[in-house]
Amino acid sequence: MQPPLTPCLVCEKAVIYLWPGRENKPDDHQLANLNGAAHIVIDAGYGSNFDGYEFEAILCDDCLDKLIQSKRVTPLVIPSW
Ligand SMILES: [Zn+2]
Repeated sequence: MQPPLTPCLVCEKAVIYLWPGRENKPDDHQLANLNGAAHIVIDAGYGSNFDGYEFEAILCDDCLDKLIQSKRVTPLVIPSW
């Protein structure tokens, strides 16, 4: 079975999962198996028209790097490896 193709939120480049299974177990570690992309969660709170909603999307590494360089996203955790 082929893993699902998922477009980048910004540039719509197709991103693949490195192994299948995400569609069967959406809450497991499969979130981390994107090939050259990151899984993002958008959490809307009080004051937003989407208060209480939670969304997910895919952001490719190229677009994420541009957002980091332009300081439009802020790193919260930087691993030590
Ligand atoms: Zn992109």
